[in-house]
Amino acid sequence: MPDPDVLERLRVTASTCTLCPLAKGRTQVVFGVGDPAADLLFVGEGPGREEDLAGEPFVGRSGKLLDRLMWEEIGLTRAECYIANVVKCRPPQNRDPAPKEIEACRPYLTEQIAIIDPVVIVTLGNFATKLLLQSTKGIRELRGQVFERGRANLIPAYHPAYVLRAGGEAMAEMRADFVRAKRLMASGRA
Ligand code: URA
Repeated sequence: MPDPDVLERLRVTASTCTLCPLAKGRTQVVFGVGDPAADLLFVGEGPGREEDLAGEPFVGRSGKLLDRLMWEEIGLTRAECYIANVVKCRPPQNRDPAPKEIEACRPYLTEQIAIIDPVVIVTLGNFATKLLLQSTKGIRELRGQVFERGRANLIPAYHPAYVLRAGGEAMAEMRADFVRAKRLMASGRA
């Protein structure tokens, strides 16, 4: 059982981070939200404008879709899982995070995963998937499969912002990936 104080101490450390230039433009560090003892961890890309203001990941339109699919396909609320991002500070104009920014922020995500010790990790989109699988392959190629990552099973899924744009088949595939996550949580560790 993870010690919630350990995660809280990491959050406090991260809250004043100046390891990369994103620190200058942020309102606040968006560390993550949810249950420190969650079996399921979602990893997105980075905070947008609304997340930067709220201090919580996935509170905008993408987040509404994430919440809905999480509930409809897995039966969980955001309080019952954990949601984090590859970078904890908002990239200006919602641009992609730069490789140096991802690298600077990586120890926080690595620590979050070690502390939470989830059974299943769902990576949302290319940035989280490539980082955690150390792969150069894109999400279209990787989704639909299950990977072992340390003690967790990792399921690559589309980013909800992409699914909002693409709809149709992408939505069905994301639902299928979430169902896969639910099954793997039920069957325990690899
Ligand atoms: N997109 C992300 O990847 N993360 C967020 O927190 C919000 C939008």
